[in-house]
Amino acid sequence: MKTQKKKSSRAGGSKSRTKKAKPRARSKATVADKRSTPAYAAQGPDAPLAPFQIQRRELRPQDVQIEILYSGVCHSDLHMARNEWKQTIYPVVPGHEIVGRVTAVGNKVTKFRSGDLGGVGVMVDSCRECANCRKGLEQYCTVGTVLTYNSHDKRTGEITNGGYSKRIVTHEDFVFRISDKLPLAAVAPLLCAGITTYSPLRHWKVGKGTRLGVVGLGGLGHMAVKFGASFGAEVTMLSQSPKKEKDARRLGAHKFALTTDPVQLKALAGYFDVIIDTVSAKHDYDTYLKLLATDGAMVCVGLPPTPSEVDVFTLMDGRRSLAASGIGGIPETQEMLDYCARHGITSDIELIDIASVNEAFTRILKSDVRYRFVIDMATLAD
Ligand code: NAP
Ligand code: ZN
Ligand code: ZN
Repeated sequence: MKTQKKKSSRAGGSKSRTKKAKPRARSKATVADKRSTPAYAAQGPDAPLAPFQIQRRELRPQDVQIEILYSGVCHSDLHMARNEWKQTIYPVVPGHEIVGRVTAVGNKVTKFRSGDLGGVGVMVDSCRECANCRKGLEQYCTVGTVLTYNSHDKRTGEITNGGYSKRIVTHEDFVFRISDKLPLAAVAPLLCAGITTYSPLRHWKVGKGTRLGVVGLGGLGHMAVKFGASFGAEVTMLSQSPKKEKDARRLGAHKFALTTDPVQLKALAGYFDVIIDTVSAKHDYDTYLKLLATDGAMVCVGLPPTPSEVDVFTLMDGRRSLAASGIGGIPETQEMLDYCARHGITSDIELIDIASVNEAFTRILKSDVRYRFVIDMATLAD
């Protein structure tokens, strides 16, 4: 995924707002008031997240304003808040697993009305014209994807701010329809952890007859287990945490192997058709590549800040592939959300107050999350 590099010149957005879909009353004063939005931000790599006021843009004609109800805490938020990927622009307001209630729409919005549920994931814009955007692979936009936070707004050049905030304003093309049949807080993590695992499982055609290995039982890992089992694969959890075995099986894993035990790993040599690697810290890829069968593929979705070496002989032996995958495109994200609504799939969450987010970061680093923290945004005063 590239973030937006070019900034186009500023263009005025519409100030129209609406309560129900029609009529669309204009009120500059209300819109101006609404721009100031409470949030939580990190001011530097060593600074804890703390209250911060941001300005949301005025509604453009195709914009949707969402009152954020729940915001998931992704390990990427932690990488980014602490500048582990060396690209953070401070202050940074993380959060890209956003669900809430639509409170206003621009006068050209067709997909949403005030009162609807809406979701925003990792992206808020892309060029819409390159070959990847046309295929619905906006996350690989060759001009540059605009991420939900820490990116430049294409029109104004302003830095985007994420979901650890009360409201967000997003172009309707990047807002998802959310079912009211699922518990809303547990839907939030689908917007990143869900699609990031659903997409490669679909792309690599994981289903009945596939032996799937999932490395790391955290936010992404637990969704990979749920989707893998739901698609009919035989799922093996590969974890460094023996305490998680029971949960892994409850989530749908058929087998569990302790990655700290070389004997258990050796027994799985050449076993898997597909491995999804969700590990967030530097680790040895060869260890897991050796577990692939002939023509097997290991797909890295975890994004450790420092690179690891790969022994090409491990890949050659059995024509194995090593790949990586970034979230999923807009159409596929909606497909995933609809699939989850049909099959009753959500994330296992721990609901927290916004004031506990720094403690949540600490626990994530200890692999102590069961299995996604979600912030109740009602705990952030307006
Ligand atoms: P998470 O909840 O912290 O889960 C990561 C899991 O990896 C941990 O629970 C742990 O599982 C395992 N792990 C952690 N440190 C390890 C180590 N040193 N050695 C071996 N295993 C370790 O994180 P997450 O939110 O799922 O995110 C995981 C990674 O995916 C992050 O790097 C994040 O930035 C990245 N990500 C990528 C995309 C994408 O588009 N590709 C999207 C979202 C997130 P066990 O205790 O079971 O071993
Ligand atoms: Zn994420
Ligand atoms: Zn594009």
